[in-house]
Amino acid sequence: MSSQKPISKSAFIKAEQCLKHFYLYKNHYYLRDPLSKEKQLVFKRGIDVGIYAQQMFPGGVDVTAGSVKHDTPAFAQKTQEAIRNGVKVIYEATFIYDDLLAMVDILVLHEEGWCAYEVKSSLKISETYVKDACFQYYVLKHSLNNLSDFCLLTMNPNYVKHGAIDIHQLFKKTSVKKDAEKNLSYFSYKAQLAKSTLEQQKIPDIQIGPHCFTPYTCDFMGTCWKHEERDESIFNLGKVSKQELFELYHSGQKSISQIDATRLEKASLRMQVEAVQQNHEMYNREAIAQFLQQVKTPMCSIDIEVWSPALPLYEGTKPFEQIPFLFSLAAPDESGTIRSSYFLKEIAEDKREQFLVALLNATDSYESILVYDKTLEEQVLNKCGILFPQYIERITYFKKRIIDLFEVIDKGYYYHPLMKGNFSLKGLAPIVDPGAGFENLAIQSGITAMYTYEALLSVSNELETEAIRAQLIEYCNQDAEITLKLFHFLRARLG
Ligand code: SF4
Repeated sequence: MSSQKPISKSAFIKAEQCLKHFYLYKNHYYLRDPLSKEKQLVFKRGIDVGIYAQQMFPGGVDVTAGSVKHDTPAFAQKTQEAIRNGVKVIYEATFIYDDLLAMVDILVLHEEGWCAYEVKSSLKISETYVKDACFQYYVLKHSLNNLSDFCLLTMNPNYVKHGAIDIHQLFKKTSVKKDAEKNLSYFSYKAQLAKSTLEQQKIPDIQIGPHCFTPYTCDFMGTCWKHEERDESIFNLGKVSKQELFELYHSGQKSISQIDATRLEKASLRMQVEAVQQNHEMYNREAIAQFLQQVKTPMCSIDIEVWSPALPLYEGTKPFEQIPFLFSLAAPDESGTIRSSYFLKEIAEDKREQFLVALLNATDSYESILVYDKTLEEQVLNKCGILFPQYIERITYFKKRIIDLFEVIDKGYYYHPLMKGNFSLKGLAPIVDPGAGFENLAIQSGITAMYTYEALLSVSNELETEAIRAQLIEYCNQDAEITLKLFHFLRARLG
């Protein structure tokens, strides 16, 4: 065995994406970009669901228990001991073959032989899931005498919770054995390629490209992309595919200043280029005026946050079903000062009806309801309409009054160079309200808000609960207030 640590499935997937990514991951890990809060939370959810799935095959032995973290040779040794001792269910079963490492979530000895189960906290099976399962199959096939199958366990999209969760219905089993058998030689070849890359002891000379984002955004963007962090980089253009941007890049147009805006067909792209070249905001006054004409007073703005638990908590819900839990409403008072109010649903009980009633009551007196990207708000209202048909007229009335300010930005009626191709409300916040952005908040994204809300399930301390509630409200209020300020900001452009 080489002095290198064995190649895990995560490292292997990196090699599939880009051999430079793989090499840096194995040999220059310290260069890795800091893990975002969102990614950390997604990983944690994956681990939690994996542990939960162990209940499908209870009473197993966890070979990582009581050992030093990441001591994979010790885990592999314990796995072999467990097999020799007749253990029939092994969690985190670890195998090392030809410097390749596989750690499967659950390994079970059935009558026909061993079956490995890899748990994914997802409703769908992606190509990458299949690839990493096939890699593990390759290692297991060479490590176990009687491997009978390898299955992915994903969340069953059709499962509806009635009473206690039926774990065997909650997860859906899909065998990848056929794919894995068909591709054994591919994995053998790719594993050798990865190993020879490490043996060369030099960072592969690979240029940036669309592969930096597929299947996942690379962990070393800070290293390879540091020259593209200039404001003028063409990668600061939005609404253009990575493919198109790289075509420009490779044709020598690496800077927005090099682009001939007059030759651009798309008006929204032309506006972005001109705004950066002139270092000034650009807008279509007429189009904005026409759009804003539909806004009636009194008006308010709304932001809704949803929680999508992998493990359904409430009766009649499915895995990852969107549960609205918080809304903020911002509106000017008589003096014109923006005031915010909110409704935050307790997590322990469903109470979606109370949420809906609070939302309808809070907005009843407003002629226009401003939002930024109505997709989620409409999804929530449509679902509430199905669940609580007695409110359908009020829901329809609510939907009729929605005015989506995202349209102004999405259609290219306004652009500021500071947006750097980011058309989200977070991208606009520093322009609309300098100094009152999201960067100082404990929660800075809807995904973090969702996981922070979920944390309320495990918090027993009242002080902590209050702190979490305050963070959630602060974030949601900020979204609603920036939306309202965006309206005033756009109106001010009309002179
Ligand atoms: S940023 Fe792109 S080129 Fe650099 S290592 Fe990652 S995938 Fe490879």
